[in-house]
Amino acid sequence: MRLSRYFLPVLKETPSEAQIVSHRYMLRAGMIKQQSAGIYSWLPLGFKVLKRIEQIVHEEQIRVGHIPLLMPTLQSADLWRESGRYDDYGQEMLRIKDRQGREMLYGPTNEEMVTDIFRSHVNSYKDLPLTLYQIQWKFRDEVRPRFGVMRGREFLMKDGYSFDIDRDAALHAYNRHMVSYLRSYERMGLTAIPMRAASGPIGGDNTHEFLVLASTGESEVFYDAAVTDLALGARDVDMDDRAAVQGICDEFTTLYARTDETHDAALFESAVPEDRRRVGRGIEVGQIFYFGTKYSEAMGANVVTADGSRVPVEMGSHGIGVSRLLGAIIEASHDDKGIIWPEGVTPFHVGIVNLKQGDASTDSACNALYSAVIGKGLEPLYDDRDERAGAKFATMDLIGLPWRITVGPRGLAAGKVELTCRRTGESEELSMEAVVDRLG
Ligand code: ATP
Ligand code: MG
Ligand code: MG
Ligand code: MG
Repeated sequence: MRLSRYFLPVLKETPSEAQIVSHRYMLRAGMIKQQSAGIYSWLPLGFKVLKRIEQIVHEEQIRVGHIPLLMPTLQSADLWRESGRYDDYGQEMLRIKDRQGREMLYGPTNEEMVTDIFRSHVNSYKDLPLTLYQIQWKFRDEVRPRFGVMRGREFLMKDGYSFDIDRDAALHAYNRHMVSYLRSYERMGLTAIPMRAASGPIGGDNTHEFLVLASTGESEVFYDAAVTDLALGARDVDMDDRAAVQGICDEFTTLYARTDETHDAALFESAVPEDRRRVGRGIEVGQIFYFGTKYSEAMGANVVTADGSRVPVEMGSHGIGVSRLLGAIIEASHDDKGIIWPEGVTPFHVGIVNLKQGDASTDSACNALYSAVIGKGLEPLYDDRDERAGAKFATMDLIGLPWRITVGPRGLAAGKVELTCRRTGESEELSMEAVVDRLG
């Protein structure tokens, strides 16, 4: 993409309504625009990162055998009356009437609808295990929408629903989700710690939240410092091997890590050596639940077992805050000049800065680099505007691409361009060929 032809409405001033750094940088970098409280347009740069996060989530869900589908955002109130949640859900639910006077709602989550799909089409244990998931917009009329996309009212969530024949199989589905989530967050450059959580309105006993440590997080967290050293890495895991998957979950959930909702001060002191006790704040970027037959019993989602009896299906639901993740990643990765995107989610792989736009030799060197980068299957953002070098650098630093190639007449005379790493700030003089080799 050439910046002169792109739509990147960068703001010079820091917007006064933004209280936290991720919100400020998302507005300044022209990624989002607020349309109403907690409701945003995703401008091209923000939309690109959102799509990259979605893509990682899809790949990791499909890798463990989960199946994508898409359900509507608008749901009928009657479906929610079957589970009893239409009255219970309270003011977070946006309720709507259509022209016939039928009661509808904008879905805050989809347990009822997916249970309805399941009961309409699945009757036998032979069709299990089954996990269906979607990445779809949700609406929750939050009391205090704030911090930009971090606590929106309309937000994008990956929500997955597991269906199994018995408790053991359902707990395996829970564990499978935990491992797939750990891998997803790591690919986004994040450390997200599974913490034992309280279940809230969805119900159930087995539940973990995934928290990214950040001083601006809304949850208070208590943990053993050793949890921050755990990493899944490139381990090859056989997701059908229940014991192996359980082993990984044990590795990530045995050390003490809890939010204020489940914190046990006495246990914290007895289980964690004093020098490793940490109290901090975290951003909830996902949650997994096993809740058994809560919805299947209420809604008549039964399956025939191998011995011919009919039992309500065992369920769990598992969510990732896709749009919140943009904020969480920026909170975890920035400096005073702007965002520092991890390679896994960056909107463009490299920025190209032309120091002397209109000069025949720098223009042609930039054009050649631009084509060569694309030839490697990478996406460059070429700043070909007629602007001062300082302004070009400030824009690149703000939008946070991991690499910048700077092309100027003086370097070119010696056959060199400059490659700068956004994270370390280190620069290197390289030939045009070497710089392209170095990327990707
Ligand atoms: P929170 O405690 O932050 O209100 P939640 O526990 O109500 O979140 P879940 O029902 O667990 O949310 O939904 C799954 C994920 O969706 C959350 O882990 C979070 O990452 C994301 N999410 C929830 N509410 C919002 C929101 N208002 N804006 C953006 N993302 C959200
Ligand atoms: Mg909530
Ligand atoms: Mg929560
Ligand atoms: Mg939650």
